[in-house]
Amino acid sequence: MNYQKLKGTVDILPDESEKWQVVEQQARAILSNYQFKEIRTPLFEKFDLFARGVGETSDIVSKEMYDFKDKGDRHIALRPEGTAGVVRAYVENKLYAPEYHKPMKLYYIGSMFRYERPQSGRQRQFNQVGVEVFGSKNPAVDVETMALAMDLFKSFGIEDLKLVINSLGDAESRLKYREALIAYLEPHFDELSNDSKERLYKNPLRVLDSKDKKDKVLVADAPSVLDFLNEKSKQHFEAVKEMLEDLSIPYEIDKNMVRGLDYYNDTIFEVMTTHPKFGANATICAGGRYDSLVEEVGGPETPAFGFGFGIERLLILLDFMNYNYPKVSTIDAYVVTIGEKVNKAATKLTQYLRQNNLSVEREFMNRKPGKQFKTADKWDAEFVFTMGEDELNENRVTIKALKSGQQTDIDLGELYSNFEATFKEVESRLMKKGE
Ligand code: ATP
Ligand code: MG
Repeated sequence: MNYQKLKGTVDILPDESEKWQVVEQQARAILSNYQFKEIRTPLFEKFDLFARGVGETSDIVSKEMYDFKDKGDRHIALRPEGTAGVVRAYVENKLYAPEYHKPMKLYYIGSMFRYERPQSGRQRQFNQVGVEVFGSKNPAVDVETMALAMDLFKSFGIEDLKLVINSLGDAESRLKYREALIAYLEPHFDELSNDSKERLYKNPLRVLDSKDKKDKVLVADAPSVLDFLNEKSKQHFEAVKEMLEDLSIPYEIDKNMVRGLDYYNDTIFEVMTTHPKFGANATICAGGRYDSLVEEVGGPETPAFGFGFGIERLLILLDFMNYNYPKVSTIDAYVVTIGEKVNKAATKLTQYLRQNNLSVEREFMNRKPGKQFKTADKWDAEFVFTMGEDELNENRVTIKALKSGQQTDIDLGELYSNFEATFKEVESRLMKKGE
């Protein structure tokens, strides 16, 4: 039998997974500076949660869901995005209760699933880092969260970045805009793509997001939602822009930008890369305000703001930039074994060193000593412990500092009775000599 991974999935092999660790650790550090706390929700939920939360007319729900009936005949879906599950958890666990700090700032890191045509930067299982802030309508939340997204990307030295914002207004503003948009598009009904025809009356804003070429041309001259904002939404948007300027965060306004998910209102944004090699999937992060979703999912009225970014697309960008990843795995010592008789003693020594917090590998394959030293060198080990039959008989081990080339013997009895005194002393002596 010859098994292959499913289309749109990838194996992340060790060299690659170290990059993931760097990205995730750095993201966690910055998120923690901004006082976001991690939440982990299930990878699958009721289909209805996504249908309701993400929106029936969205591409995600209408075309891209990995949904199935389980053995109990429940209609289930693998999560296509993170927000719906986090909102469900927020409501179900009553995280809005008075004992919790407001706003509640949560983040997640994990896999999402969408049935899409696989291509570069587009997989069927992919990974997102996302944040959600619950409980504040303060435009400073919008700004802080967008600043966080920009900080995350800048922390990797990414310069080719563009923050693009728009406002969808509140429900009242959008209702007026909806009418105007339908009035503009109706005369062109026959020219619209089938998807857009279907969406025109259900959710005309979605037509603005169409990827169809002809739709795009039609939509270019459509009225902008910005011209329909009521006073409240205008003020909110003005405050957001002002604070971005105060922070010297450059932004562009795309007055016809909408988001692929149904639940947004007021501020929405995308972070795009302008890196010349990036091409079509230039959006690396997207999000915005969603003040009605918590209620929609059964909770109390709770304003919210969030974003999600794709880790795969960030990694592609970092590769284009030849990003210099810091080393994740380092090794303190390699235990070289000479002859099969020392196998047991090497096991004991290796475990002892690890128990004293050293990162250690030992020889298992009984290769020639030269080969073993080569490995230690290649892995950049600080020390090599050599254990041969002579050493074994004399209850000692040779230790060599690879950088200085210095070596000495350690009595195993002494090492095992007092690691601090024995190893630390030898360590500082060998390192010094090399200077
Ligand atoms: P697109 O227009 O590229 O399909 P989207 O609107 O579907 O994007 P969101 O749902 O807003 O994207 O997801 C946020 C981010 O998640 C995207 O900016 C991207 O980095 C990443 N992303 C979305 N879909 C995929 C996918 N199939 N494979 C890899 N990353 C993805
Ligand atoms: Mg998509």
